[in-house]
Amino acid sequence: EEDVGKIKPDYVRSFLFESKLMPCTWIVIRIDGCHFHRFSEVHEFEKPNDKQALNLMNSCAVAVLEEFQDITFSYGVSDEYSFVLKKETLFYQRRASDIVSVIVSFFTSMYVMKWKEFFPYKDLKYPPAFDGRAVCYPSSNIIRDYLAWRQVDCHINNQYNTCFWMLVMSGNSKSEAQSYLKGTQTREKNELLIQKFGIDYNQLPIMFRQGSSVFRVEAEKTVAFENGSPAEKLQNKVIVTHCNIIEHSFWKEHPSILD
Ligand code: ATP
Ligand code: ATP
Ligand code: MG
Ligand code: MG
Ligand code: MG
Ligand code: MG
Repeated sequence: EEDVGKIKPDYVRSFLFESKLMPCTWIVIRIDGCHFHRFSEVHEFEKPNDKQALNLMNSCAVAVLEEFQDITFSYGVSDEYSFVLKKETLFYQRRASDIVSVIVSFFTSMYVMKWKEFFPYKDLKYPPAFDGRAVCYPSSNIIRDYLAWRQVDCHINNQYNTCFWMLVMSGNSKSEAQSYLKGTQTREKNELLIQKFGIDYNQLPIMFRQGSSVFRVEAEKTVAFENGSPAEKLQNKVIVTHCNIIEHSFWKEHPSILD
């Protein structure tokens, strides 16, 4: 007990390094499932795209936007999600480790809580984990380029994976499929899908091709009753869409997201 007085809190605290994200920039927190290649195998996800696994990811992202008001937009594909915080946010005084950790842990616990809703007939066999990182983007053009990059990645991976799994399901080994696709261009992959498998890439589900965008829209005016009398309320609602966010038109239609 006499040792208690010897501890000097200021001295101990002086080792704490709080890394703050640059002011007046859009903060993107990108989370990604850890070893989901394995996780998706153990849980027998449909290949190349398990729709319910994506719906679960989307539902968790909606919960994140409902919980954290400073997130204005998010984009998800596969086992990853990017969350965009408004540029003037003072959430956790912009401390990177606090923001990343609270979003990652909230998302992860949602994923576990909602699992049964999306996979009523599958047990969760082990606890999934996500990692996360924070990056600042200084202009709306650059953040749009960031999001476009993720959506291009979605397209490239989806096209590759669709070809890969069609080759595998039609009797090729994984390494045969891999070497078959090595060096092929977009056009050749589309032709492979049409000619060998009768699949028109552009007819595949839009969620697989475009990924998912989650953001708030102003909902219709609803009449709520406050203290017994009706009051008109403009309620925000978080929605999930699968649209082209590379094109300028999306951002023109939704100017408040990056204002
Ligand atoms: P890391 O820990 O480095 O992120 P990883 O195994 O998670 O490793 P990723 O590059 O993140 O690798 O890829 C995620 C993998 O998870 C995909 O390659 C795919 O196999 C699988 N996956 C994720 N979501 C789905 C889904 N909805 N349907 C089918 N497979 C999926
Ligand atoms: P913050 O989000 O800033 O951390 P907080 O409410 O979590 O806010 P803390 O300073 O972390 O505040 O304190 C945690 C609080 O949680 C305690 O004050 C106590 O009320 C409660 N708590 C945590 N663990 C226990 C426990 N084992 N038994 C009872 N109460 C607990
Ligand atoms: Mg990773
Ligand atoms: Mg991953
Ligand atoms: Mg990933
Ligand atoms: Mg606490």
